[in-house]
Amino acid sequence: MALVSQTLMVLSKDDDVNMPLSNGYQLTREMPPLSTIGNTPIVRLSAASNKAQVELLAKTEFSNPSGSIKDRVAQRILAGLEAAKKIKSTTTLVVPSSGNLAISLALLSPRHGQYKVIGLVPERTSEDRIQLLKSLGVEIVRTPIEAHADAAESQFSIAKKIATDLADAILIDEFADAANVEVHAQETAEEILFQCEGRLDVLVVGVETGGTITGLAKTLKSKIPGLKVVGVEPEHSSIQDGVNRSSAWKVEDIGGNFTPSILNKTLVDAWIKVSDQESYSTARQIIREEGLYCGPSSGSVVAAALRYSESLSKETKPRILTILNDTGRNYSSTLLSDDWLLEHDLMDEAMAQSVAYHRHEKYRAASVEELQLPAAVTIPPTATVGYALDLMMTREFSQLPVLNPTNRKLMGYISLTALTTHLEEGQAQESDLVSKWMYSFLKKDKSGGPRPKYETITPMTPLSDLSKFFEKHSFAVVTDDERRWCLGVATKYDLMTFLNRRQTGGRSF
Ligand code: PMP
Repeated sequence: MALVSQTLMVLSKDDDVNMPLSNGYQLTREMPPLSTIGNTPIVRLSAASNKAQVELLAKTEFSNPSGSIKDRVAQRILAGLEAAKKIKSTTTLVVPSSGNLAISLALLSPRHGQYKVIGLVPERTSEDRIQLLKSLGVEIVRTPIEAHADAAESQFSIAKKIATDLADAILIDEFADAANVEVHAQETAEEILFQCEGRLDVLVVGVETGGTITGLAKTLKSKIPGLKVVGVEPEHSSIQDGVNRSSAWKVEDIGGNFTPSILNKTLVDAWIKVSDQESYSTARQIIREEGLYCGPSSGSVVAAALRYSESLSKETKPRILTILNDTGRNYSSTLLSDDWLLEHDLMDEAMAQSVAYHRHEKYRAASVEELQLPAAVTIPPTATVGYALDLMMTREFSQLPVLNPTNRKLMGYISLTALTTHLEEGQAQESDLVSKWMYSFLKKDKSGGPRPKYETITPMTPLSDLSKFFEKHSFAVVTDDERRWCLGVATKYDLMTFLNRRQTGGRSF
């Protein structure tokens, strides 16, 4: 449920932003020049609020154009550098960052000066994000995660060296840049004040550079008496205490092994550390239960908010605001991958059980045999494409196995989509023989390369394996072990009707 912000969205650059608003607040800032940045909605996390008996809100920073809060910072930094004439269109921006700032700068670059961006990103950075950076033309330099900020091989030292050695290059250091605090103190905090109508008990923020928490706390604490600000970092991170220890956490974008200079710790009332497992599993819960596509660090923040809420009296329904800083879409190979989460032991008990159930238990050791497939409708290689198309259309099949008419051995299959495409493109004729267009199980493919690897599906194949097979394929030709005889054709529909039959004790859908 969107709480607010739609009203903010309709304000344009020309509107009178100094006009007092009906809720008593006044927008004192100028609207940003790129209206797609900022003005992110605040929503209520309904499932979590009900569980914790508090009003748990989330500012959806992942709805910024590049998918993270860093668009605000990038915009502010570029505007400052441009106003001060410190950069020109040929300048290279050297960015030591966990990735999001480099993404934002690269995304904004064409609208500003077409700057070249070099991103120094830690080894823990996911492959998805690397691809994203590359697609934006960012040159990537990977840095070791263990290195302390002062060490020669750290992100910062390497970045400084590159910026000094390259002609016309400038170091963008969000860990020391006042713009990283000011943009949140002015823009983000003003939005929150307006959206929450000034009523807020607790603010929970993930910390890396400290820009967000310092900027927000500075403004919000001055306007909301009694507001508590909670900083969140990964287990083993040492932002809060500066003690150097292992940096081997997996959550990207929060935590560090030193205290950044822009972080004002006096504004932070409590620090909470969250493990990787709790962060990832909470992020997946937010996606599934709240329908908000957030990244792993948002999981850390919401987990911390829930833990903090345990210490609060529930009588007045305390209002807690979390900042969800980036989008889950940039984590398809990690956060969104069940396999990856399982491999790294990052699922909570309930999630691991649910995955095991969907992968194995719901099939209760059943195999393809139990699908009781009817005998397959097949076609000989000597039939014409026109005949094959007619047959598939009338019987509503999307594919047909091709059998040798003399010995009935399986040769391959034809597909409706492939045939119609070949016909439409003028490569195939209705009078062509099926053998010309079939996918052959027997010989090398047309280009003479090795024949594609086909997985063999037999009556003994467990249905759990068949289900995995259907994640990539639309149908399976069921054969014997040597793939000589065609025993039937299975589709996902057969699997679904089987499960339904079993659940309903024989009744169909
Ligand atoms: N979460 C995400 C997704 C981020 O990209 C960042 C910044 N790297 C943070 C949290 C921490 O914010 P800050 O740097 O302002 O402390």
